[in-house]
Amino acid sequence: PTTLDDWTRSDAYHNSFLIPKDPVLEHTRERAEAAGLPPIAVTPAVGKFLQLLAFSLNAKRVLEVGTLAGYSAICLARALPDDGRLITLELVKETAEVARQNIEEAGLASKVEVIIGPAAETLASMSATEPFDLVFLDADKENLPIYFAEAKRLVRKRGVIVVDNMVRNGRTADPSYTDEHVPGLRRLLESVKDDPEVNATTVSTVGEKGYDGFMYAIRL
Ligand code: SAM
Repeated sequence: PTTLDDWTRSDAYHNSFLIPKDPVLEHTRERAEAAGLPPIAVTPAVGKFLQLLAFSLNAKRVLEVGTLAGYSAICLARALPDDGRLITLELVKETAEVARQNIEEAGLASKVEVIIGPAAETLASMSATEPFDLVFLDADKENLPIYFAEAKRLVRKRGVIVVDNMVRNGRTADPSYTDEHVPGLRRLLESVKDDPEVNATTVSTVGEKGYDGFMYAIRL
């Protein structure tokens, strides 16, 4: 199977066994669409993966950069214990409001804090005294090397940093490609290459959102 239709059908098949129907997440997606937000949230399968990752890390504190309508935030926050905390950063005030509504309706408002503003500034103001177990980077790619450096500072040792949309249909690896996203991704790869403080791999994925992939890095 090589087309988006095939990959979408395949995701639907697997999801039908492993991911129960979820009215809360469906409504989150509907509200995002109604608010005119682009359909760029993680897929149900990747959302579930993030949730399982948070569970397996026994995560109590999770940081997300790029909230959109709160879809991945809800997936992650559901894995947290009662006293757990997800901090998620969003540039656009109106977008953050949509996310807050969705998070509230998901019954997760007490565990989730949405902070509005440019993530680079918010991250720079955050203290590392209470380190995070997991960081999910899913905002603009231009500032990704900055986000990654801050994530490294704020995550615990052996904590995990996941960076979404690293592969972009193979474009990141194609030198003829120079859209606004790929330079940040390539700079991140360059910096991780010689970084003794992290160990990382990129895992490619195909699914209902096409061919992409994420970087999975651990803080040494
Ligand atoms: N993680 C979300 C999900 O899966 O449901 C999707 C996030 S979407 C791909 C990227 C988000 O990052 C957008 O809502 C965008 O407004 C936000 N963003 C873009 N630039 C940003 C910045 N400089 N600081 C904070 N957020 C930013």
